[in-house]
Amino acid sequence: MSYLNYQKKELFFDSVSISEIAKKYPTPFYLYSESALLSQYKAFQKTVNQFELGEDHLICFALKANPNPFLLESLFKLGAGADTVSGGELQRALQCGCDPQKIVFSGVGKTRQEIEFALGCHELGIYSFNVESIEELDLINTVAKEMNKMARVAIRLNPKVNAKTHKFISTGYKTHKFGILKEDILELFTKINSYDSIKLVGLSIHIGSQLTDFKATKKAVLEVCKLALHAPEPLEFIDFGGGLGVDYKGRDPEYKLNEYMHSLAEGIYEAELPYHPRVLFEPGRFLSASAGVFVTKVIRTKQSDKVFFAIVDGGMNDFVRTSLYEAYHKIIPVVESGEKKVATEIVGPICETSDSFASGRKIQKLKADELIVVCDTGAYGHSMSSTYNLRRRPIELTLTTHSDIVVHEH
Ligand SMILES: *Cc1c(COP(=O)(O)O)cnc(C)c1O
Repeated sequence: MSYLNYQKKELFFDSVSISEIAKKYPTPFYLYSESALLSQYKAFQKTVNQFELGEDHLICFALKANPNPFLLESLFKLGAGADTVSGGELQRALQCGCDPQKIVFSGVGKTRQEIEFALGCHELGIYSFNVESIEELDLINTVAKEMNKMARVAIRLNPKVNAKTHKFISTGYKTHKFGILKEDILELFTKINSYDSIKLVGLSIHIGSQLTDFKATKKAVLEVCKLALHAPEPLEFIDFGGGLGVDYKGRDPEYKLNEYMHSLAEGIYEAELPYHPRVLFEPGRFLSASAGVFVTKVIRTKQSDKVFFAIVDGGMNDFVRTSLYEAYHKIIPVVESGEKKVATEIVGPICETSDSFASGRKIQKLKADELIVVCDTGAYGHSMSSTYNLRRRPIELTLTTHSDIVVHEH
């Protein structure tokens, strides 16, 4: 079910009229639906259960997709964990009520301060450091020793697979900076006991984002499960990362969820592990993309030879995916005017040619002051916004399950 629909030519999101909201709040803004987010989480969880991947599984929401505090609190209340990639995200997860024993910390550049913070946030520290190099492991061991702690650690495998996605968001190939190669992990296994302040609890992978073809996923899953067979002791968990793509063109919220889970289950099954480690997931995009829209207003239109421009008040500083990755997002009017559709360059006010939401897009002929919506922007939207051109970051509005609006401005 989509949370976006027209009623008498007016666009509603989660049963609220977007025009009405835009009367009260300045554009551009992000608009989220708590219900839409929770329904994605529940669908994910239900599918994990259908494929019998373990009652004790843990779904760690990747904060970088959308660290909105209200949405995080809501997810954590349902029992979600957190995948974090910086001290800031770790702090946010804790502030929003995430149990430290449900937090994993990934990333190639963890600093000493971040490691200290993660170790100190609970008796046991966080649930797992997902370690991306031997050098990092050495540092975690040193810091843990100084703090008289045992650091719980999972090793991130670089599975040498080439995930089919945009090259900027593919992360599992042998030349990518992420993870440790199999041969190096095998060697590490033989001397893991020399790390006296490290407890090896798992293995992890994350091969890329916006994945819709799961051949590489299955291969990576099989690789990591087979590697688990060589671990010096049975592992507590295997973390299969995030990456499940969303249907930006068709907008089916549960697009490929079954297929993805099926590939995972097959990979796990084929590895023939003699025991069942706990299964962890780190979905970001899949949970939050369809739970948000970006609302922007046409400032003016401009005809330049044969090219028709609609210049809107949102720019690449507010929402960068279309500029950075040439990503496709559906763009629809807030009021269906009945005007004929024309090919339109939908561009922002920023002084860069790449500041564009769509090129040659067929949409009703737009006029000044009309509102449009960029769909599926609940992931990697506000979290990637900036103040480029000295613009203010857009506000975030969340429609709660109690039909309130929570405003977040920063
Ligand atoms: C970005 C990231 C994720 C989330 O990826 P999605 O494509 O949003 O699901 C998960 N794990 C790690 C380590 C990441 O860097």
